[in-house]
Amino acid sequence: MGNDADPADPARDRHFMRIAIDQAHNAWALGEVPVGAVVVRAGKVLATGFNHPVGTSDPTAHAEIRALRAAAELVGNYRLTDCDLYVTLEPCAMCAGAIQHARIRRVVFGAPDPKTGAAGSVVDLFSEPRLNHHATVVGGIEAEACGKLLREFFADRRRELAAQRARDEQMARLAEDPRMRGIEVRFEDDAGPD
Ligand SMILES: [Zn+2]
Repeated sequence: MGNDADPADPARDRHFMRIAIDQAHNAWALGEVPVGAVVVRAGKVLATGFNHPVGTSDPTAHAEIRALRAAAELVGNYRLTDCDLYVTLEPCAMCAGAIQHARIRRVVFGAPDPKTGAAGSVVDLFSEPRLNHHATVVGGIEAEACGKLLREFFADRRRELAAQRARDEQMARLAEDPRMRGIEVRFEDDAGPD
């Protein structure tokens, strides 16, 4: 697994990206968009994080921010100069800013994000010469696995929404049916514990 003096070891990058993918699965398990991150120092995982803005009611609870917070707390320093960050999706502008404030040495991301990516897809905040910190950025590591997870999550969510819509329509039709007047209609999973 390469040593720290050789940060561009592709096998090492894939290894840590797979740990970030595990973190993305944790987000999905909680119904959040599956993005995961790990902070690595001296060839070891220092901290992990997964996307969790809905459950925490926190718009800043992206995987990268959560991993950076945990890492900084562990080392007792907001500067993580000797650390690398692995994240399954290209960082957004907020996370790119946090990465730069933390002085992260190297950023490795999986899938590109054509909607909010700030490492080249929409803007490239990492190569902006007017910003004084420049982490090395590598994209496309395990990109297929990282992207597939997101596609499957959104396909799943669309299916759930379509099923819910079909149910709502069925309920509305039943409610309008004169033969159903005075009869309460409940679907099984609407029934509470009472
Ligand atoms: Zn972000």
